[in-house]
Amino acid sequence: MTYVANPKRYDKMEYRRCGKSGLKLPSVSLGLWHNFGHIDNFENGRNILRLAFDNGITHFDLANNYGPPPGSAEENFGKIFKDDFKSYRDELIISSKAGWGMWPGPYGDWGSKKYLVASLDQSLKRMGLDYVDIFYHHRPDPETPLEETMTALDLIVRQGKALHVGISSYQSEEAAKAIKILKQLGTPCLIHQPKYSMFVRWVEDANQPNGMSLLDVLEKEGVGCIPFSPLAQGLLTDKYLNGIPKDSRAASHRGNGAIEEDAITDENINKVKKLNELAVKRDQTLAQMALAWILKDPRVTSVLIGVSKPEQVTDSIKCIDNYKFSSDELKQINEILK
Ligand code: NDP
Repeated sequence: MTYVANPKRYDKMEYRRCGKSGLKLPSVSLGLWHNFGHIDNFENGRNILRLAFDNGITHFDLANNYGPPPGSAEENFGKIFKDDFKSYRDELIISSKAGWGMWPGPYGDWGSKKYLVASLDQSLKRMGLDYVDIFYHHRPDPETPLEETMTALDLIVRQGKALHVGISSYQSEEAAKAIKILKQLGTPCLIHQPKYSMFVRWVEDANQPNGMSLLDVLEKEGVGCIPFSPLAQGLLTDKYLNGIPKDSRAASHRGNGAIEEDAITDENINKVKKLNELAVKRDQTLAQMALAWILKDPRVTSVLIGVSKPEQVTDSIKCIDNYKFSSDELKQINEILK
């Protein structure tokens, strides 16, 4: 059936300015790392994307290697985009990335100009797009000069293939260097995409070679922040409290960095149980509280969620209803996470 977007889609979602740029992102964005590959149910993916957009989620995050198999999330997104979202293109922020291994040989991995330019051309073809809104370097490359990688990002913007560029998983000091080079080139870094959740808090740590946490660098430079895996791939929800459900990511052995059963340890689950009790007291699900805990920080532009079912969109998105924490609640959370 032809998709017509919900006319009330902008009524509830809030939009935050991305650093000091002109672009606003929804407080909750949707990523297609898992659940959108050829091994997944195509119609389920379509339903998730429709429901997300119907609720004001205007930002969909992809990468060349999402699937599995690599490339298939972009291909499936391209089909759904053509059927459902083409007429809404100007209401959407679509991102892609390159930086992890994508094709054999020396030009299909890391951060060379050759790889980044060719990879984005492939991504645009798979998605059937003329341009992406944000193109990221997916991870730092210790061997390619940073100047070359950043020059490639600048070129891509000048070619009109991306409107903005970002970096992902760069540590505080290397992020500051990349941001500086991009500024000199005249293509400001829009956004950084780091892993950040109650369980993974390195972005807060000021004990860095440059004496600044990543979050402080981003604030100082006016760069946005979109944390990925904010639910620690599902660990920070109530789903693993009583074992490992068959339909969970941990049980599915998807590879490509997906959480495995060995991450569901007693130590982790003990913490999750205590966090869940606190969430109940706040009248939230644990997923909502874990996302709200990230959104409490104004340096965060958007929280980048993944979902395997439409109901998870409905549940998680309610995190925007309450992301205020009392100092006592924050203390309790820190105690639990110790
Ligand atoms: P999350 O931490 O949000 O984990 C998503 C998983 O959590 C879902 O698949 C689902 O697990 C579970 N879940 C989500 N909502 C709920 C809910 N309300 N109740 C119960 N369970 C829930 O994020 P991801 O790890 O998926 O990452 C999100 C996005 O971040 C990716 O799609 C990608 O765009 C980006 N990313 C970027 C990376 C980078 O290097 N830049 C690396 C990794 C991700 P289940 O499947 O078991 O139901």
